[in-house]
Amino acid sequence: MKITQVEAIPFAIPYRKPLRFASGEVHVAEHVLVRVTTDDGVVGVAEAPPRPFTYGETQASIVAVIDSIFAPEVVGLDVVEREQIHARLSRTVGNPTARSALDMAIWDALGQSLGYSVTDLLGGYTDRMRVSHMLGFDEPAAMVAEAERMHDTYGITTFKVKVGRHPFTLDTAVVRALREGLGDAVELYVDGNRGWSASESARAMKEMADLGLTFAEELCPADDVLGRRWLVAQLDVPFIADESVVTPAELTREILGGSATAASIKTARTGFTTSRRVHHLAEGLGIELVMGNQIDGQLGSLCSVAFGSAFELTSRRAGELSNFLDMTDDLLAEPLEIHAGELVARSGPGLGALIDPDKLAHFRQD
Ligand SMILES: [Mg+2]
Repeated sequence: MKITQVEAIPFAIPYRKPLRFASGEVHVAEHVLVRVTTDDGVVGVAEAPPRPFTYGETQASIVAVIDSIFAPEVVGLDVVEREQIHARLSRTVGNPTARSALDMAIWDALGQSLGYSVTDLLGGYTDRMRVSHMLGFDEPAAMVAEAERMHDTYGITTFKVKVGRHPFTLDTAVVRALREGLGDAVELYVDGNRGWSASESARAMKEMADLGLTFAEELCPADDVLGRRWLVAQLDVPFIADESVVTPAELTREILGGSATAASIKTARTGFTTSRRVHHLAEGLGIELVMGNQIDGQLGSLCSVAFGSAFELTSRRAGELSNFLDMTDDLLAEPLEIHAGELVARSGPGLGALIDPDKLAHFRQD
């Protein structure tokens, strides 16, 4: 089960409509397919979705760092040597998405070689997650209409609302319109992507106090250290740290510093190996976790549900698993489907992800 080849293949698939949020917007999924081949003929796959405005990686930088730094570090290692692989990949700072896709492709190869699903190898708690749908910036009526469509078509009852435009007019109006339009049966939470200041966040959360929000996520920047601590201390809902906790050390600092009270795990940026560390740390700290979405395609969403369903703590809350619905096509031969508000992890072996060769040939850019 030795790794003989690592490939980083850039591909691009357009979105049906651009997704807009406080830290940027996305029109085309310019992702990288990572393929790991072993000497027993197994091919593991995963997908890297760059987010230049959040982590500083681009499609070209992901291909470059995998080809020039990461691939030479892991070729020749056995896929069971996960801690050795992790140690070698961790020598290079930054590049979380590139490192994570390679890590997950190796886990896929390991699962295929052993004949187990990745979910079972990680923990095997359950085989599915409830789905939370992310509502990007739009007019209030359009966001209510999208939520209603997601509820009626896919049975989704949990919605994350992107805020961070203008706190006291548009943002709170959108959330109020959603609560009034969708009723009390749905779960709503807000994500500011650092778009508000701490004081704007405090005032906006007071204005929305009657709307029954479940969480508030990354409303203001973690670098506003005292401001965020002041905000989090006065909230009566958990404050999710997302892009501020890419490593276990960052999670420790944010939680012990009182600057967050929950965390988001995104397999796109922490893979399976580091996500597992973050999960165990969160369990020890006694905080809630939400499986987040880095605007993943179907392969990335399959990785998220494979991880999230492996543990009790991550499967307790709905996972953000529906962004792939906004893409015009995908690479998987057998498309993902959300039924009755749930997404099922594949029974494997590995991730159970078969890439359609015709689609890859069509969308690849190299
Ligand atoms: Mg977020």
